[in-house]
Amino acid sequence: MPALAPTPQTSYLIWFRRDLRLEDNTALSALTEMANQGADQPHIKALFMVTPEQWLEHAMSLAQVDFIFRSLKELAGALLTQLNIELHLLQAPNYSQCVDAIDNFCQQHNISNIASNYEYEVNEMARDRALERQLSKKGITFHRYHDQCILPPGSVTTNDGTMYKVFTPFYKKWQSILDTGLVNLHPLAKLNHNKPDSDILPQILDSIEDLYQKTLRLFLERQFDQETTAQSLLQTTRQTYPAGEDQAYKRLQQFLAEDVQHYDIARDQSALEATSQLSAYLTIGVISPRLCYLKAKQAAQSAYEAKAYNLNEPNEDFGAEQDIQRWISELAWRDFYRHVIVENPDIVKGAAFNKVADQKVNWSYDLSDFEKWCRGLTGVPLVDAAMRCLNQTGFMHNRLRMVTAMFLTKNLFIDWRLGERYFMQKLIDGDFASNNGGWQWSASTGTDAAPYFRIMNPFSQAKTHDKDAIFIKTWLPELKDIPASVLHDEAKLRQALSKKGSFAQVDYPQPMVDHKQARLYAIEQFKG
Ligand code: FAD
Repeated sequence: MPALAPTPQTSYLIWFRRDLRLEDNTALSALTEMANQGADQPHIKALFMVTPEQWLEHAMSLAQVDFIFRSLKELAGALLTQLNIELHLLQAPNYSQCVDAIDNFCQQHNISNIASNYEYEVNEMARDRALERQLSKKGITFHRYHDQCILPPGSVTTNDGTMYKVFTPFYKKWQSILDTGLVNLHPLAKLNHNKPDSDILPQILDSIEDLYQKTLRLFLERQFDQETTAQSLLQTTRQTYPAGEDQAYKRLQQFLAEDVQHYDIARDQSALEATSQLSAYLTIGVISPRLCYLKAKQAAQSAYEAKAYNLNEPNEDFGAEQDIQRWISELAWRDFYRHVIVENPDIVKGAAFNKVADQKVNWSYDLSDFEKWCRGLTGVPLVDAAMRCLNQTGFMHNRLRMVTAMFLTKNLFIDWRLGERYFMQKLIDGDFASNNGGWQWSASTGTDAAPYFRIMNPFSQAKTHDKDAIFIKTWLPELKDIPASVLHDEAKLRQALSKKGSFAQVDYPQPMVDHKQARLYAIEQFKG
């Protein structure tokens, strides 16, 4: 009788997307649990799909691409040493070819179950449905989990089950659900695995580096005129955003121990680094939003207890509770915008939330004006400083995102979609839902957006939030000798830079629009 061929052992696959971590990763936790129940020594593989053409189409920034690859190297090391799971990278030009590539991988490795965390954008959802259909014909199950938000889309609704259109009631409901203690972290099941074969790590890292180099070349070709600009940007982002879960966690702990104590006030000061700078990590999932939330709640509780304990010795440091709650509300904004896109998928295809407001404005597509805004040459110091900071560091402070977005949409009347795309191409934390939400808020076309008549004046914003013009002068050194009082006043600045003005020799343009006139015109347009 011929010997029976050994039955190939079934394997499990974790497909990482925007969740590049082991800690509190819903899909990974569920898969390890499932695999443990299914086999004594389960075989788990990990996968990440590199889709450069798709990334370019979605205007992903080079800074983020670089951060993803750096994070993948950290993830590969952690997966292998802690769980004996090998990370594989596959390349596909776009999402439809992604489906076939994963299908082939599953056949090759005898995969029975795949787990992933949801990505909520339209193309990603369509890709996942196509994969699910294709795999189910072959008996492979594709499990998906909610992981990107603290509370999943669809779970925070009005009493009649509809999505909130305004943030404050959403936030109250969100907080009341969380107060019931519903959110917990997802632990990793202990895997019965063989001793990790750490000899293969260099090989894995080489293959990641190889794909990184190919992707980098493509991005340099398509997004940059000069390679030196890109290299200098990457030098900065690598220093500011070291990769890895440990780094993200350290940043969270440090922020909650120190900077958060003045967050409520200091968060708006452009010259201060008073916010957590965790957005880049949250965007690609190096840290979990639930972990951020739970750690912040613990910190608030400690601040509360410390205050109660020191009741007779007032100490301003113990005012941190309110600051922490304010920070938590920012995490809620992040959830809110994700819930909004799931409820209104046409937003992902470029539609405004408030189509009536969007259609009232006669948006401009003047590329010469747009170019001035992109390069920081508008003649409005705070706007230009913010744009140059974005171009050189891949980051912009929240208030400045609002100021520059309002300037583009309500002083230059350029379609917010152009600005939205430009931000995505530059931001290391570029995230469709938050970026779109921020742009539509600023353009007054979004849900719970800024009222159309409340238009930020970039000069008075600078006076309030960059009093001594430290931020402006850092990014516009040509203005170093002009007093802050002049930089913060449009009429004085025009005079100072004019031919007969005291700073006529300074190589800096006159403000390209008169803010007061532009404001009136914007209000007229929105009134319709
Ligand atoms: P912190 O103040 O420490 O806040 C903590 C976290 O809360 C952030 O990391 C972020 O995840 C979340 N958060 C804070 N503010 C917001 C907000 N207004 N909306 C949604 N989430 C928020 N954020 C992105 O993560 N990616 C983007 O692409 C993005 N684009 C934006 C575009 C515009 C026009 C505007 C006005 C805002 C945008 N934001 C975006 C929101 C916000 O500016 C950044 O999240 C914040 O500046 C990141 O810095 P931080 O991590 O230090 O924030």
